[in-house]
Amino acid sequence: MKARELGAARAIVASRIRGTRVPVFVGAAVTSRCDGVCVFCRRAGGNGDDLDTRTWMELLEGMARAGTCRVSFTGGEPLLRDDVGRLVHEARRLGLGVNISTNGQLLDSRLEEIARADGVTVSFEGPEPVMDRLRGRDAHAKAVRGIEAALGAGLPLVLRSTLSSLNVDRVDEILAEARTLGARVSFAPLRSVPLGGGDPALLPEESLFRVAVERLIQQKRRGDRTVLNSMACLEHYRRWPEPAVLRCSAGRIYARVEPDGWMYACGDEVTSARRESALDLGFEEAFRRIEPSGCDACWCDSRVEMNLLHDLNVHAIREALHR
Ligand code: SF4
Ligand code: SF4
Repeated sequence: MKARELGAARAIVASRIRGTRVPVFVGAAVTSRCDGVCVFCRRAGGNGDDLDTRTWMELLEGMARAGTCRVSFTGGEPLLRDDVGRLVHEARRLGLGVNISTNGQLLDSRLEEIARADGVTVSFEGPEPVMDRLRGRDAHAKAVRGIEAALGAGLPLVLRSTLSSLNVDRVDEILAEARTLGARVSFAPLRSVPLGGGDPALLPEESLFRVAVERLIQQKRRGDRTVLNSMACLEHYRRWPEPAVLRCSAGRIYARVEPDGWMYACGDEVTSARRESALDLGFEEAFRRIEPSGCDACWCDSRVEMNLLHDLNVHAIREALHR
């Protein structure tokens, strides 16, 4: 285990047992701009003002001082930032692990700049007609091109697939395509917050979602490593969309910073008034003031896994160690 992962594990255990709060993981939405036109997203075609390089560098310094182990650059589309390579370098220089969440469309053209990132997560709802309908014309082809280029360059990469009414019955095809590409996939149901919701008809039908979850569980039991979600996460998904409380670690080991500098305990709370300005207060003070969160609708794959780790779920921990 690397020193950084060991530090994260220690901080998570301390937070759970002693109630300490350390922003081990940070979601940094470095831009509200997006070249995507996803039908379910409030950022689609976004073109707002972003914080400048210097401000993000200061926020990264604050994260390093506060004990952050991994920052995930997201957006909007983070690869639209001209300085994304500089932000990656600075984060790594400060000892932070860096992940980039992207729609993949610019991935092949920005590879050199982000080569020092520890990982890339690419949104992928294939097959092609589905993905193009959800994410816009040629979205699938562009994402595949980026994925192949990144994997070819040796960048650790995983896929993230949002299950909507358009693809909930196609998980086998998504897995088959992922295998062909040589990448693992983490699945999550379409959520109305913080994506913005779009057409409610895009929400997956409950019974079909459950069939999809059972299929993923079956594949995992067969030893299919293409499914990235932990078994504990999939078992949690069995309860979707009924209220299904997980012990929440948002605001305890996680914070989300939006493109305007507002910090929230959780990315699903970006419409709430419970926020602090990392811009005015600095990252550390904003985190100190942010109120730990909690809700009964935890369906984002990465936050479910984080909450399971924080809850010291041995199955989730074992799978996390073997990823
Ligand atoms: S889902 Fe992602 S890629 Fe699509 S419009 Fe929203 S931010 Fe852009
Ligand atoms: S329980 Fe709710 S507030 Fe907590 S991490 Fe999950 S979605 Fe966010």
